[in-house]
Amino acid sequence: MIYCPRFSAHVVTPPEISIVIPVYDEEAVLPALFERLYRALDALGRAYEIVFVDDGSRDRSPLLLREQHARRRDVTRVVLLNRNYGQHMAIMAGFEQARGSKVVTLDADLQNPPEQIGVLLAAMDAGHDYVGSVRRGRQDRFLRRNASRLVNALRERTTRIRMNDHGSMMRAYASHIVRSMTRSRETTAFIPALAYTYAVNPVEVEIAHAARAAGRSKYSWLTLARLNFDLMTGFSIVPLRLFSLGGCLVALASALLFIYHLARGLMHGPQVDPVFGLFTVVFFLIGVVLFGLGLLGEYVGRIYLQVRDHPRFVVAAMLDTAPAADPERR
Ligand code: UDP
Ligand code: MG
Repeated sequence: MIYCPRFSAHVVTPPEISIVIPVYDEEAVLPALFERLYRALDALGRAYEIVFVDDGSRDRSPLLLREQHARRRDVTRVVLLNRNYGQHMAIMAGFEQARGSKVVTLDADLQNPPEQIGVLLAAMDAGHDYVGSVRRGRQDRFLRRNASRLVNALRERTTRIRMNDHGSMMRAYASHIVRSMTRSRETTAFIPALAYTYAVNPVEVEIAHAARAAGRSKYSWLTLARLNFDLMTGFSIVPLRLFSLGGCLVALASALLFIYHLARGLMHGPQVDPVFGLFTVVFFLIGVVLFGLGLLGEYVGRIYLQVRDHPRFVVAAMLDTAPAADPERR
């Protein structure tokens, strides 16, 4: 650290690598993470910093992070958010602080082995500005794995984003991508997809995947559905278009059905149970209309969140030994 009296500020050489880790109620796994993460990073022999972002944890995670900060003040920085904003916004808060020219994101639960960070960095050294990962031998439940496969396939068809495993959060980004993301001001950003839109030379590498080391997943089916709606509606209006097209087809089909019933009635007299047939059609149409309204609501909701222009997150405290990040990053 060089002290520069003229501006009375500390000038710190930025590290090469910033590791950003979102933490939400992870007290059970943090000790094991600290143990493996620092060892793996020290072994790389590159200058690094770790930016932990506490996403409004209700357990002892903030305390454990404070202790770790005191133990490894040289490379540890902690952002404490005032409440829970979700994994992607927590990562965004970490991005705002990251100073490295390469930024790596990782989950706290050791599902992404820290020992494999070098694999991502090697791909960056080879000239890629965005390195995604494909989870080898994915260790999640059967239903979750298959739902994820389905959403990946859907995303591949409805957006311009080309990747094999958008749910894998172990990734590396060049700092220009991180800067573009923090400037984007989107309140419901799906980070892997957003980064892809700014990348020049993206690639994916295979990374091992482990079962969660301790604690429970922070995603319920509901929050997962929310997240994937963010992905679909954030990067494509194909769902809206498909819906309009579907609406036209359904309208056409019901018109044909009406003509058919009318013709049959005229030829053979009143049918046995027309009420039943009518109800079936009406319920189907109501279902379609409600789904459409919901879909429209997703887009309107995004516009609402955006025009409200609230801060995306509020940093309650920052444990740091160095000056705040480059203001250009904000
Ligand atoms: N996480 C977070 N905020 C949330 C939910 C999750 O910061 O609201 C963090 C969590 O602590 C973990 C990562 O995001 O580091 C992935 O969460 P989790 O392992 O529960 O998700 P899963 O692996 O089940 O998709
Ligand atoms: Mg996990």
